[in-house]
This record gives sequence, C-alpha cells and structure tokens, in this order.
Amino acid sequence: MPDQYQVLRDVFGYSEFRGDQEQIVSHVIGGGDAVVLMPTGGGKSLCYQVPALVREGCAVVVSPLIALMADQVGALRQLGVRAAYLNSTQLPEERAEVERAFLAGELDLIYVAPERLSQRGTREFLARGTLSLIAIDEAHCVSQWGHDFRPDYLALGELADIWPDVPRIALTATATRRTHEELTARLHLEGARHFVSSFDRPNITYRIEPKAQANRQLLEFIRTEGVVDGEPATGIVYALSRNSVEKIAEFLRANDVDALPYHAGLDRRVREDTLHRFLREDGIVVVATIAFGMGIDKPDVRFVAHVDLPKSIEGYYQETGRAGRDGLPSVAWMAYGLADVMNQRRLIDQSDGDAARRRVQSQLLDAMLALCETATCRRQQLLGYFDQRIEPCGNCDTCLNPPKTWDGTVPAQKLLSTIFRLDRDFNRSAYGAGHLIDILLGVDNARIQQQGHDRLTTYGIGTELDASGWRSVVRQLVALGIIAPQGDYGVLRLTEKAAPVLRGETTVMLREDTKAPARSRKAARS
Ligand code: ADP
Ligand code: ZN
Repeated sequence: MPDQYQVLRDVFGYSEFRGDQEQIVSHVIGGGDAVVLMPTGGGKSLCYQVPALVREGCAVVVSPLIALMADQVGALRQLGVRAAYLNSTQLPEERAEVERAFLAGELDLIYVAPERLSQRGTREFLARGTLSLIAIDEAHCVSQWGHDFRPDYLALGELADIWPDVPRIALTATATRRTHEELTARLHLEGARHFVSSFDRPNITYRIEPKAQANRQLLEFIRTEGVVDGEPATGIVYALSRNSVEKIAEFLRANDVDALPYHAGLDRRVREDTLHRFLREDGIVVVATIAFGMGIDKPDVRFVAHVDLPKSIEGYYQETGRAGRDGLPSVAWMAYGLADVMNQRRLIDQSDGDAARRRVQSQLLDAMLALCETATCRRQQLLGYFDQRIEPCGNCDTCLNPPKTWDGTVPAQKLLSTIFRLDRDFNRSAYGAGHLIDILLGVDNARIQQQGHDRLTTYGIGTELDASGWRSVVRQLVALGIIAPQGDYGVLRLTEKAAPVLRGETTVMLREDTKAPARSRKAARS
C-alpha cells in the first residue's frame, strides 16, 4: 500500500498537505474518527480521499449533492481513482455494474446519497464488502436548527453501531459551536478527534452598502470590481426569489454582462448547461437563488454579490466563501436596505414552524443584521460569530472607511412616539415607513390631510434629517428589533424594546450610512 505522501503526490499531483490535512489524514488512516470544520475551499475532500486510497477496502462517501456526484466521481476517475456513485439518477443496469464492482473489490470510493444509506438494502449490500472508512460530507445537514437541515442525515448516526470498527469522518464548512456540538452528538462522534481550522478568508474583501437601487448598484459594482486585467471576471449574484433572479439576469444581460439565471424552477438541462458554462468558461456571472453553489469547485470566482439579505451568517459565510478559493483577491459585496429587514422579519413571523423554530430563525437573522449594521470590522464580527477572535482586518469596508456612529436616541424617540400616538389617538398604527417619515418631515399631502395627521404633536418635528436619513433610522430600529413589521403591508409597530427608549432609559447608537468608494482591483492586489 502506498503511504499518504505518495498518494498526495502521485494521484493528486500536490507536493504538500495544506493546513490540518496532514494530521486529519494520518488520524483517519490510523483508524480514528474525526470531525472536521474547515472553510469552503480549505481542502476537505482530500481529508477522506487520501485515506480512502491508503486504507484497505472501499470508502463510503455520504453527500447530499446528488447533482454533483457525477462530476466529483468523474474528476476522481480522471486522476485514475477507482470511484463510483449510487443515487436515484442511475439506470438499474448502471447501478448493478457499480454494485458488482464494489463486491469484486474494484472500488476505492463509493459516493452514496444519504437517503440510500437509511435503506436496509443498501446497508446489507455494503456489509458484504470491506469498508475502509465512512465520510459524511456537509455534515451540518444533520443539524435540525441549522440553515440546511436534511432529514435523511438523522439516520446516519446509526452507522456508528453498524460499523463500529470503520473510522468515520464528518466534514463541514459550518462552524458555529451549536452546529458543531449538534453534529457530534447526532452522528455519534463523541469519541472523535476534532479539527477546527481558521475560518478567516483573508483574500476576501467584505463590503455591505445601503440599498437604494439594487440593480444599478450591482451593475456599477460589476463594472468597477468585476473586472480582472480588463477582462470580465467570474462571479455569482445571489437573490432570494426566482423572479428576481430572472429579472436581474435580464437586466445585466441588457447591460452587456454575460449573466445567466439559475434556480430550481428552471429545466434541468438548462441548469446543467449553465453550471457547465460557469465551470468551463471565464467571465460568466451566474445569478442564482441559494440552490446554486453548494459543493461547486470553481477556484477563480472573483466576486459574490448579494442583492437580498441572507437569512443567517452561516448562509452568508458559505455563499461568500465561494469567492477566491484560489487565494487571489476577491470581493464579497452586498446591498442591504429597509425592505430586506422587513421582508425577513415578516417571513419568520409567517413561517409555519413552531415558536421555538421561529425564535431560532429570529436569532440567526439578528446576528446577520448585526453584521450589516456594525460600525466595526466586518471580519471581526463575522469570525466572532464562529468564536474566532481577530484584530481589525484592514480589508473590509468598515476598516477601510470607518463609518461614524451617532447618538440617535432623540430621532428614535420622535419616530417611536409618532407610532405610539397614531395608535393611541387615531386608534390604529397601520402605517409604513413612508407615511411615518412624511409626518416627521411635516410633508403636506392628501393622505396626511385626510387622516388629520398634521394635528399630531410629532408632525414636522423631524426636519433635522432628510428622508434618506430617516429611512436609515427606521432600518436600524427594525434591525435592532425596537420596531417590527406587522402583516403584509410594511406596517410598523412598537415592540417591547421601544418603551425603555421612549422613557429615555436606553440610548440608541446608530451608524451613518456611507457608501465606500470602490477600490480598484490594483489596490486590492497590492
Ligand atoms: P472544500 O471541500 O473544503 O471546499 P476542496 O476539497 O474542494 O475544498 O478543495 C478546494 C481546492 O483546493 C481544490 O481545487 C483542491 O484541489 C485544492 N486543494 C486541496 N488540497 C490541496 C493541497 N494540499 N495542495 C494543493 N491544492 C489543494
Ligand atoms: Zn475589517
């Protein structure tokens, strides 16, 4: 049997292991269980592929990415590795051939979809061969409270009892303490050694700017920063809905960006074609829902743009992590505004989960909003979420262009008391941001006249800010959970956090919205 260094060199063509790979590989070859937390692009695959080729028998790789199995296996075969997969996309005769090869000991790796592994037939079949190890990829999918739960993963804990002597390695790029603890327990990896890599991606510049006209801002961003040496760069744009994905792709195409839409509602052939072009060609910008990108290995993605707010920091980190896997300067850019906060809060309110589930979703969102509204280093905030402490990074918008913070208590009180008075004196508070701001600015329009809102004591008392200043205040108050949307129409109501602000017991610190000047790619490289 070759050793791990020969395999690394002769099969994969690499001269040395990266980061924790060497330790992980040795540990698994020695028969130990492992839990591996490593950021996207960190090189998780080799952690089980190398031991699979060193240890006797065939490795079982559990992966939820059925659409990518053929690609992953194809890539291994190109390297001369004896790999195959079993999933629902295969014809019976293809499956039979894979099974024959496995039983004949002709395979080193077999990729299996999680739902197959919960079937008794599959387990009995695998028990007839020799397993070298079991790798559980995207292991965070077992976490019920995470952002990516797959029920089929729950049964994977049983593998510990079925194959007590086969080393198991669970891998994920999600690294909150909660997910870590949960996957360790659920996959019965209590005796495993844990390998936690740094989650910092120093070559990614983080930028979050206030959203005004998302499409225009996106286009400007792509034109200035989505360019490398004068050529359009490869990028991914994430949006929440299929509809906006289509619209944005269309808008970009109309403006000479080679953009392609990607979402689960598109024909499978179209999706495969898009994926293929994205992987093989340069300068393609894929506009996608989050359905796109998990497990895709494209090293030279130069930017990831978000035009809608992700639901959690985990999601944001994973999506932005698809940029710059090759280590070269890359940008994670996001436009974020009042409507985003309102939408996400509303979606949680209206979701069908139970109260506990909603509370978790709400916590995930709060952390995401704190990242958006922070006046300190974004990377500090981001990594802090993963329990990793760093110095201010010097490579994010808030480091490069520190936003000013200001005491927004008085404007906050004015806004809150407007909502309060509308509720008390007019017996309803069914108004959205636009109308509240009109009242504060003393705008004289038909709606104000009809409702008699010019009689409110807060009418016209907010002229120290302009409309966009007020929108920023409203956005931050929603982000802070002091006011919250109600129902479908952007109506704002006070939460229990509003009373102490109104009574003057808490100060409300806000950040000034700044639009950082785009850094040229040259500057980013130096
Ligand atoms: P992950 O699954 O953690 O996102 P991958 O396993 O896909 O990461 O690896 C990311 C990229 O890094 C791949 O292109 C892979 O070939 C490359 N890579 C991994 N390990 C090494 C290494 N030791 N030396 C050089 N390149 C590596
Ligand atoms: Zn920073």
